[in-house]
Amino acid sequence: MTDDPSLSIDRALRQELEGWRRAGLSHLPMPPRKRTATTPASAKPVAMRTPTGASSASRTTLKSVTAPAVSMTHALPVVSEPLPPSPHSAGSREDREWRLNQLRQRVAACTRCQELASARTQTVFGVGNPEARFLFIGEAPGADEDAQGEPFVGAAGKLLDKIIVACGMKREDIYICNILRCRPPGNRKPLPEEAGNCREWLDGQIAVIDPDFIVCWGATAAQNLLGSEESIGRLRGRSFQHGRANVLCTYHPSYLLRNPAAKKDVWEDMKLFLKQAGLPVPA
Ligand code: SF4
Repeated sequence: MTDDPSLSIDRALRQELEGWRRAGLSHLPMPPRKRTATTPASAKPVAMRTPTGASSASRTTLKSVTAPAVSMTHALPVVSEPLPPSPHSAGSREDREWRLNQLRQRVAACTRCQELASARTQTVFGVGNPEARFLFIGEAPGADEDAQGEPFVGAAGKLLDKIIVACGMKREDIYICNILRCRPPGNRKPLPEEAGNCREWLDGQIAVIDPDFIVCWGATAAQNLLGSEESIGRLRGRSFQHGRANVLCTYHPSYLLRNPAAKKDVWEDMKLFLKQAGLPVPA
């Protein structure tokens, strides 16, 4: 995590604005002159969200502490025009596939992160069952994903497949996507600005899939989805809420490849996930 207070401020404002957007606010009227806002130097994003996605604790900290001025224009999340009306019955499989395809086309043309857009082979949108109860979220495409256009297809993806099978599930039971849809150079961690740029696409996919459960694989997924700065070690083993979805967090399969001893922790997390999902829990 960064120690740069301006990035914490940026993240806190993005969370607040995202909450407003989810509550139905489509735009913020801006005065003709440049505005500034004050935010805390050490805003503590919270790990729990209200059903609307708004973070009550971040709202409190934003009101209560004074800090360096930040350009509101810079902090505003990027939001596209709403999707056109679907020609299919709302919530049907055809409707979900149609809306995901609309989002996929927008993502394919997205150049919000210029460094990533100029270096990518292709965007990596997401894959899986549009009616899945379970949504898995990872960090960002790696080299294999960038080449093939699908998330989790490299060594980490193969390990994820083994975990899915060990849980008695199939990939077809799940929808899988990432915080970012373009590969960061050298597989570096996504920057907060990049995660903010890509949040609209993630939110769009979550809205279409409307999952019962979300599993965040790794710190980047957990911290960005939940708006938390807690470590993945502290976030795992706990339940969170995002909209109507129950959220669990665990280590990323890439971490398990480097630290096989952590597999037992992931297995404990998977057993908790299966139990909460009402699925058989292997002994
Ligand atoms: S990472 Fe996301 S927001 Fe950034 S260019 Fe790719 S699709 Fe667009």
